This record gives sequence, structure tokens and C-alpha cells, in this order.
Amino acid sequence: ASELVIKNLHASIEGKPILRGVDLVVRQGEVHALMGPNGSGKSTLANVIMGNPKYEVTDGEIWFKGENILEYSPDRRARMGLFLAFQYPMAIPGVSVANFLRRALEAVREGPRPVGEENPSGRPAPRKTIPPSEFRNLLREKMKLLKVDNSFINRSINDGFSGGEKKRAEILQMALLEPEIAMMDETDSGLDIDALKIVSDSVNALRGPKLGLLVITHYQRILNYIVPDFVHVMFDGRIVRSGGKELALELEEKGYEWLRPEGSEVA
Ligand code: ADP
Ligand code: MG
Ligand code: MG
Repeated sequence: ASELVIKNLHASIEGKPILRGVDLVVRQGEVHALMGPNGSGKSTLANVIMGNPKYEVTDGEIWFKGENILEYSPDRRARMGLFLAFQYPMAIPGVSVANFLRRALEAVREGPRPVGEENPSGRPAPRKTIPPSEFRNLLREKMKLLKVDNSFINRSINDGFSGGEKKRAEILQMALLEPEIAMMDETDSGLDIDALKIVSDSVNALRGPKLGLLVITHYQRILNYIVPDFVHVMFDGRIVRSGGKELALELEEKGYEWLRPEGSEVA
């Protein structure tokens, strides 16, 4: 099974240290929840794993499928099987959901290019195309699995989508790309309880031995529906506690303060 291994990861933004020694292992087939107070570094960790150039890694290692991926572009990481569903997906007017998904799938199917043939500043266009009929069939199959409406995929990507629809577009993308390790950052934020259930059902439909998931959330409630195998709590850029699903319930009851490390300031 593929593994994402994070060792002693330190990262800064604009010279300000955010991650201060993160250790974490996520394997295919496992569901991990990453919890913690606002500003503790959860989104930073997801962005650094994906290779967002805004962040500078100052120490530590990130291994994926036996390769140290620290120097790899975000596109290369995605082609290797890493996936991040964005907290605030942006609208791309004019590009339909179907076309966007098709391009993304073609890139992932093509896999990483040999080093040197990559375009470091952007996402190289895939060379391999998927016949439209094959793509339609695959998309239909995934839409059925996730109970996504047909009208959805011909609309422009995220243009005028409700919060719940954006999340469903992300999950449809995840279903189609079949990443080995996927991260979902605050997928629950801004969803009412019905949308939360629909989104959770979709994620649960994708659970299985081939998918490793890191579910990032500030609130415990989504974990009532997506029950994690492991729960980690981040505080001040470190994981200060790990446990099973019962840790999430303990946090719901007690909050985060009891886990604040000594010497860390109250914001
Ligand atoms: P979380 O996702 O746990 O709420 P973040 O990773 O978003 O935490 O933020 C961690 C810290 O990094 C916070 O103190 C935040 O203010 C800081 N931070 C995040 N993004 C930026 C940025 N673009 N510029 C400066 N500081 C940032
Ligand atoms: Mg935050
Ligand atoms: Mg965040």
C-alpha cells in the first residue's frame, strides 16, 4: 500500500515559522482526522504536502510511495496520486465541470513526466486524451455512486455553485481521479446539516483499501458521519496528541485548551 510519510516537517510563510516538527504517516485504506484550533497550522500542512510554493520548507522530509517529494511540483505530486480538495475552491468561468474533470483525469492517467520534461511553472497539458465516450461512461458511473445530478456537469466549474455543490464537485473530482492519498480541508465548513450528510455519504462511498484520507476539520461534527481510524490534534504547528476515534469525542466534550503545550501563548 502507498504511504505518505511526514518526518519532522518545519515550514514557514513569509519568514514566519508555522509548522514546527510534524510527524505523520497516512497509508492507503486509512482515514485520519486532523483537528486543532484555528491557526494551528492544519491548512498549512495540507498546502505544504501538496507543494504550494507560498510556503517554505525549512526542515524535515515528505515521502510518498518511497520517494522524497519535497522538490516535486504540485502537478507532479497530483500525478503521483496525491489530492487536495480546496477549502475555498475558485470559480473558473467558461470551463464546464465535465471538461475540467476530463483534463485532470488525463493528466493523472498520464502520470508524472520524466524529470526535465516538466513545466515547473505550471500544469503541462496532458498528451494522452481519453475518448469522450469512455469519459462520459466513467463520469456517469461516478455520478451514480455519489448521487450527483446530471445537469451539474455541464455548468461552469464552481460558477454560481452553492457551498454544498462546490464540495460535491470536489468529491466527484476525487472519485474520478482515484487518488491514493487525499486531503480534505474543512470540507464541512459552511455546510448545513443536510449538505453535510450528503457530502459525508459521498466520502464514505469512496472509502476502501485504495484510498487514504486526511480529513482536516476544526469541528468534531463531520466525524460523526465520516468515522476516522485515527485522530490527531495539532497545536502551534505540531501534532500534540494522536488517538482513535474516541479522541474526537473527547475534544467535543472538553475543547482544545487541555492539550495546549506548555509555553504556548493564548492567541
Ligand atoms: P489552520 O488551518 O489550523 O486554521 P493555518 O495553517 O491556516 O491554520 O494557519 C496557521 C498560521 O499561519 C496562522 O497563524 C496564520 O495566521 C498563518 N498564516 C496562514 N497563511 C498565511 C499567510 N498567507 N500569510 C501569513 N500568515 C499566514
Ligand atoms: Mg483556519
Ligand atoms: Mg485551515
